[in-house]
Amino acid sequence: MKINSNYLNLKDNYLFKTVKKKVNDFILKNPGKKIINLGIGDVTLPICKCAVDAANNATIGMGRAETFKGYGPDGGYEFLREKIAEKYYSRSVKIKTDEIFVSDGAKSDISGILDIFSLENVCLVPDPVYPVYSDSNIMDGRQIVYLNANEENEFLPLPEDRYAADIIYICSPNNPTGSVYTAEMLKKWVNFANSNDSIILFDAAYEAFISEKKLPHSIFEIEGSKTCAIEINSFSKSAGFTGMRCAYMIIPHELVREGVSINKLWGKRISVKFNGVSYVIQRAAESVLTNEGNLQCKNLLTYYRENARITSSTLRNSKVRFFGGENSPYIWMKCPENIKSWDFFDYLLENFGVVGVPGSGFGKNGEGYFRFTTFGKREDINEAARIIGGVFS
Ligand code: PLP
Repeated sequence: MKINSNYLNLKDNYLFKTVKKKVNDFILKNPGKKIINLGIGDVTLPICKCAVDAANNATIGMGRAETFKGYGPDGGYEFLREKIAEKYYSRSVKIKTDEIFVSDGAKSDISGILDIFSLENVCLVPDPVYPVYSDSNIMDGRQIVYLNANEENEFLPLPEDRYAADIIYICSPNNPTGSVYTAEMLKKWVNFANSNDSIILFDAAYEAFISEKKLPHSIFEIEGSKTCAIEINSFSKSAGFTGMRCAYMIIPHELVREGVSINKLWGKRISVKFNGVSYVIQRAAESVLTNEGNLQCKNLLTYYRENARITSSTLRNSKVRFFGGENSPYIWMKCPENIKSWDFFDYLLENFGVVGVPGSGFGKNGEGYFRFTTFGKREDINEAARIIGGVFS
């Protein structure tokens, strides 16, 4: 018997585990000291009333013979797929319901989709990166080429011929850097993927945070993308569903490789490895896509946006170099005086009880940067902004 030894190639000190351990050690040493946690990108506000009511009603329905549901369709109930298609249609993107696959999370989709791609494929991952993109490929033993995202390209790298790759990861708005691709930039990626026969995995998990009208929310707003892209989206950040678990992936029928429909291949994969998302959760997800649910979720987004505005304006006033915060819930700031990311982490934790995430944990280009989320509570955001502003003044 042999294990998958690729797992041994994963870095042992998984970023968020190390952050957590350091915070726990600090609490043990400093009992009673307040911690302001703007580290892990989890939401803090409860789900909206629409979703609570829908989940409650669906649960009651499960207890009645006439409305009880057993196994549902692997790729999601039609009622939810229709609502997702309508959401895209409101941005003039036409998606068929059988191009939508409902899942229990974008994380599962990002790693699961690799099942249907050969291990011989080379994948292109930006550096810095949401660690799941690289780690799930390391687990499979696939070759990874890193794409430099840095201050020079404002953390929005563009394709270059030397980056020939089969699987391309794009996250916009980006975690961790908060940067967002314009339609013109995405068009370059789409042209590159079509001419190289590659597939773009477009992670739109933070799309709801885009406030600038001109910026694209979906890769499918870009002409030519249906022959080269898969989109992954989630209710986690747009509707506070991190604990509910619901997401979806869009695989257009036009996406064909080696004469095989990628949509059909994924259909086979989920029919063997997945039994669908809970009916109750899908009803809750459907409710947030109604007009009323949309309005209620907007209130959550407005709260987080105001957090981002407060933090950004404090950093701007303190002349700190940073990215993101405008169309994204992440602020990616340069550490003062060229301090290394983990040293700045220790400094903020030990002196002020403020927790962020060291940029170096997201890749070598993240060294010297620091990520804050704006998903925190308002009083924490105000205090953190005051402290960080003070560090730089
Ligand atoms: N994609 C990105 C870029 C993320 O930052 C996250 C979570 O933080 C996810 C996907 C995971 O989303 P989900 O909660 O749907 O698994």
